[in-house]
Amino acid sequence: MAATRTFSIIKPDATRRNLTGAVTKMLEEAGLRVVASKRIQMSREQAEGFYAVHSERPFFGDLVDFMIGGPVVVQVLEGEDAVKRNRDVMGATNPSDAAEGTIRKAYAESIEANSVHGSDSDENAKIEIDFFFKPEEIVG
Ligand code: ADP
Ligand code: MG
Repeated sequence: MAATRTFSIIKPDATRRNLTGAVTKMLEEAGLRVVASKRIQMSREQAEGFYAVHSERPFFGDLVDFMIGGPVVVQVLEGEDAVKRNRDVMGATNPSDAAEGTIRKAYAESIEANSVHGSDSDENAKIEIDFFFKPEEIVG
């Protein structure tokens, strides 16, 4: 199967605890390659746009505040079946449901401050990659 791409965010709870390297190591050990990466401070407008699909959910305002509460690391990951591979190593949204060996089991603080984002489909991966990266910033 050919390599595909997905989009990842190392969230503010993880950057605050200096876990960028530890999280990236788990992604790499899961067979994913970082083909683009940058540390940014998201604006409120960016966070609202990125999470627009969740705008009707009760936690939307808190989620936006959390995501702009500190720097994040946005990444493009490449590997075989990258979307599923990343979702598998991320673990369940709520860390109390996350399996052993997953990033959220190891590092998440709560259902909100759960250390990583990962695209949930190839279609959304493309939209999310394009939201943060220009084509020339991705070097596979
Ligand atoms: P995932 O990140 O696993 O794809 P969702 O897309 O459902 O999960 O939610 C997006 C993000 O919103 C989650 O990663 C988490 O940070 C936050 N979130 C989800 N559900 C809740 C909740 N019930 N309360 C607070 N924050 C939540
Ligand atoms: Mg999601």
